[in-house]
Amino acid sequence: PYDVLIVGGGPAGAAAAVYAARKGIRTAIVAERFGGQTMDTLAIENYISVLETDGPKFAAALEKHAQAYGVELIHLQRAERLVPAATPGGLVELQLANGGSLKGRSVILSTGARWREVDVPGEQQYRNKGVAYCPHCDGPLFKGKRVAVIGGGNSGVEAGIDLAGLVEHVTLIEFGDALRADKVLVDKLKSLPNVEIVLNGQTTSIDGDGQKVTGLTYKDRASGAIRQVPLAGVFVQIGLVPNTEWLKGTLELSRHGEIIVDAKGATSVPGVFAAGDVTTVPYKQIIIAAGDGAKAALGAFDHLMRSSVP
Ligand code: FAD
Repeated sequence: PYDVLIVGGGPAGAAAAVYAARKGIRTAIVAERFGGQTMDTLAIENYISVLETDGPKFAAALEKHAQAYGVELIHLQRAERLVPAATPGGLVELQLANGGSLKGRSVILSTGARWREVDVPGEQQYRNKGVAYCPHCDGPLFKGKRVAVIGGGNSGVEAGIDLAGLVEHVTLIEFGDALRADKVLVDKLKSLPNVEIVLNGQTTSIDGDGQKVTGLTYKDRASGAIRQVPLAGVFVQIGLVPNTEWLKGTLELSRHGEIIVDAKGATSVPGVFAAGDVTTVPYKQIIIAAGDGAKAALGAFDHLMRSSVP
């Protein structure tokens, strides 16, 4: 068995692996796609000490760092089930989609999350070419331009306020007949001079010139009218979905499906830790996921030191 078996090869999993392997313990990462969400990222400009890099380059560097410490990388494998240890300090089992199974004295779950998509024509075609999901990441790319935010919940309204300070103009489009964010945020958004709020707006397409986004089309659900908004960017803010479907019923999840962790990354199952976007830790960012992975690895190491087998 492994001392530390990590599920997920994004920034959280890679950092956990480096921290675990540097303790001289047997460490492996099982990942469907090494690099995780960073593989979908064009420019990364907010990872401290790295002025600028791109996603695939960053992912390759994560992998190289883990390999340098002899971490076993089990690529292209999907975990399907987690079986808690039968006895305290016993082995945790991970069952894979290919029928195989792996065991660990501790397990770190870092399966990340995915942005909920609006699923309209143009969204896939113009992803990273005007269609964005992360205002902290991509907001500065739209400095001085006009953008839309789709979604009027907390994340959409926060994105609208954040972007209004950076871009020329923000059109916020909410499907329902009212914004669903906290009142203090809604009041702040409404006070901004360069923000227009559209209620009852159903986005029907994200439009472009073949190279990049040039506008967005929505239907006014009240009148049935079709409207076209010229702009350079569309921020989709309709939710982040944690990759925990396979863990339901096994360990404690929040009502949003995130793995509930304590300050050391421990979950409700003994010997099982979690880190990064898949957890309740707020602010889903690379640097936060990486720090969180390091923390979970130290938590797992602490657990191993305290459990019976040396
Ligand atoms: P992830 O990166 O999501 O990695 C999850 C890993 O788990 C992957 O290896 C995946 O294949 C694997 N996995 C999932 N389910 C299973 C399973 N059942 N079995 C096996 N493996 C599984 N953040 C920034 O700080 N700066 C940015 O500029 C930035 N830009 C972004 C741009 C885009 C388009 C996106 C989508 C996100 C961006 N982010 C950015 C957010 C950042 O990418 C995430 O916060 C970060 O990647 C989270 O790391 P993670 O390791 O927790 O999860």
